[in-house]
Amino acid sequence: MSTTECATASNVIGNSPQRPLLPPPPPPAQRQGSVSRDGWTCPICTFVNPPTRPGCEMCSADRPEDFQIPDDYVPMGPEKDRLQEVALHEQLFAQ
Ligand SMILES: [Zn+2]
Repeated sequence: MSTTECATASNVIGNSPQRPLLPPPPPPAQRQGSVSRDGWTCPICTFVNPPTRPGCEMCSADRPEDFQIPDDYVPMGPEKDRLQEVALHEQLFAQ
């Protein structure tokens, strides 16, 4: 009778192979998809609306939530008039 010692350690703790810790890949560059300096493109009818419009001028679809009005945006033309009108209405309602 010969006994072969089985010396295989069944539990090896603290010796796990080190996984290379790669930094997460950088996010892809922000593509100017629905957001541009000219305004936001309606996802429904692709009409380009002024940044300050809360809804599509053509089909009244909501402005994309991720759209941000550029800080240096200056409303011009009819959009400026519209904003002035809105401000005027808000003043009237506030009183
Ligand atoms: Zn639209």
